[in-house]
Amino acid sequence: MLMLPVVLRNLLGRCATRPYPRQARQPFAGSRGQLVNDAGSCILCGTCARVCPSQCLTVSRKDGLWQYEPFACICCGVCVEACPSGSLTQLGRWRPAVRERERVVMEVRREK
Ligand code: SF4
Ligand code: SF4
Repeated sequence: MLMLPVVLRNLLGRCATRPYPRQARQPFAGSRGQLVNDAGSCILCGTCARVCPSQCLTVSRKDGLWQYEPFACICCGVCVEACPSGSLTQLGRWRPAVRERERVVMEVRREK
C-alpha cells in the first residue's frame, strides 16, 4: 500500500529524463566534446596515437591515414595537448547520436 503513491507519481508525473536524441542537453561551457583533425595541419607524427589512453587513434604515415574510433574515445583531451602541429581540436559539443558504430578515417597525405 505504501508503494502505491510512489507508483502513481512515477506513472503520472513529469518524466525525469530527456527524450534523447530528440532533445539533447546543451553542453556546459568549456566542455571537451567531439574531436576533429585538420587534415591540412596534421603531419602524421603519431604522437596522438601514442599518448591516447583509450588506444582509439591509429596513424599510418606510410598510407597517409589518420583513423579515429569515436566510440572508444573518452574525450580526455590528452591528444589535443600533445599534438605538435595543433591540428587536433575538441569542439564544445559532443558527437551526434548514431545508429551504427562508425570509424573516422581521414586521408592526410600520401608519401611519394
Ligand atoms: S593529429 Fe597531431 S599528433 Fe596526431 S599525427 Fe597529426 S600532427 Fe601528429
Ligand atoms: S580525447 Fe583522449 S581518448 Fe579521445 S582520442 Fe584523444 S587522447 Fe584518445
